Amino acid sequence: MSAISESDLLSRVPDRLFIGGEWVESTSGRSIEVVDPSTGLVIKTIADASIADGARAMDAAVAAQDSWAATAPRVRGEILRRAFDLLQERAEDFALLMTLEMGKPLAESRGEVTYGGEFLRWFSEEAVRIGGHYGVNPEGTGRMFVTRFPVGPSFLITPWNFPLAMATRKIAPAIAAGCTAVVKPAELTPLTTLYFAKLLEESGLPKGVLNIITTSTSGEVSAPIIADPRLRKLSFTGSTPVGVRLLKQAADNVLRTSMELGGNAPFLVFEDADLDAAVDGAMIAKFRNIGQACTAANRFIVHESIAEEFAERVTARVSALTIGRGTEVGVSIGPLINAGAVAKAKTLVDDAVARGATVLTGGAPVGRDGTFFAPTVIIGVTPGSDILHEEIFGPVLSITTFTDEADAVAKANDTQYGLVSYAFTRDLARGLRLIDSIQTGMMGLNVGVVSNAAAPFGGVKQSGLGREGGTVGIDEYLETKYVLAPHTVA
Ligand code: NAP
Repeated sequence: MSAISESDLLSRVPDRLFIGGEWVESTSGRSIEVVDPSTGLVIKTIADASIADGARAMDAAVAAQDSWAATAPRVRGEILRRAFDLLQERAEDFALLMTLEMGKPLAESRGEVTYGGEFLRWFSEEAVRIGGHYGVNPEGTGRMFVTRFPVGPSFLITPWNFPLAMATRKIAPAIAAGCTAVVKPAELTPLTTLYFAKLLEESGLPKGVLNIITTSTSGEVSAPIIADPRLRKLSFTGSTPVGVRLLKQAADNVLRTSMELGGNAPFLVFEDADLDAAVDGAMIAKFRNIGQACTAANRFIVHESIAEEFAERVTARVSALTIGRGTEVGVSIGPLINAGAVAKAKTLVDDAVARGATVLTGGAPVGRDGTFFAPTVIIGVTPGSDILHEEIFGPVLSITTFTDEADAVAKANDTQYGLVSYAFTRDLARGLRLIDSIQTGMMGLNVGVVSNAAAPFGGVKQSGLGREGGTVGIDEYLETKYVLAPHTVA
């Protein structure tokens, strides 16, 4: 259990909008009630931004842009480094807050504080390494320079499933590159971002560099910001359908975009795999974040000769998982985010069963307060089942089989998504072939989790555009300028 009381912590979280360095009331006259999904109770009421508030936030970001871009990279980096240090001091606050508003077990929230914090440290280091290029043109008549400059005011939209890390993965590179930003967290989990803005304020971030709007009318408030000709960049993490809609809006303003969208990760287990490692990998790839991760393994595709043994072993582990409120000791499965998520998991399981699958454990909502779904294993999932094509976003491990490597690859690639894949095999040559043949932006080879601030995170196909983190993460917030200067000037 955390040492901080829930009510003390919640009383420290701001309940207003953060615009131009001030905590301000919304002009909408409305408010948002934030609910703990493990109890269904309201834990905090916060401001609900209007279109006018969005415009105010945009004005503040635009006003701060020039001076922020002119601020020394070292200074920008040191603010991020202070934020990293402060986050370590307040790690328990942030962990508890995420558990309260999103439901994940406290141990996983602590893991997210570590992961989310690493983006602050990584980009504090990257801020001073924004490079360029110098050379003589091939004709030998002049010097060619390539320099980088901040894209400009950016709009950052984040989802509810990783309330801290999805924010720092965008905010840290934007700040490092010299961009100001308006941030819109998800309505379901806005508290972590508000609390983080307070931390950045204390870290010395100048007024207006970061502005936070929380709103229950995302579409209405966001559209004018995206259409504002002063905006230069849209970075979105969320579902593919919303990403597609935002890309269409962004096209009208010819915005730079980064899109971190949905996934449908295949998890391949070959006949030569280390089954202990595959089962360990499956547990983390499927049940981390209660299955509510874009990187969650969605389709377990197992060689037909070992599918039953794999299913037995994972079922034994899954049946032993403890369900409960994320703050309780020993809990590994918290609630799903809301009743809609529970209904979706149930519908997908029922559809698979109707088409021939068998439930080995779980398969239904849990009868208690909050929005819980029993951790589930189903086997014998047949082609055409909805669960093979839709993001489950819940604790349902669905197993289907393959006959040979070509069949495994064809099944893995049979999706419009391409975020991440997992493959377990002891055959090095096969592992290398899979790297080339599986159509995803990331792959875990004999491992069930790949996220790392030092790595380029992102997908291909309808899983998105661009990469966050790694040495390329800052590029999303930088423009390139080429200059030609003749050797001789008349
Ligand atoms: P979502 O419904 O697409 O929402 C994501 C964000 O977009 C939220 O802040 C949401 O605000 C906002 N939004 C929704 N409609 C909008 C509109 N018309 N204009 C502007 N903003 C709008 O996704 P979610 O349910 O929060 O998150 C789950 C999805 O995110 C899954 O598909 C998951 O795979 C994906 N995801 C991807 C990654 C990745 O890195 N690839 C990481 C995490 C999650 P409201 O909350 O107010 O609706």
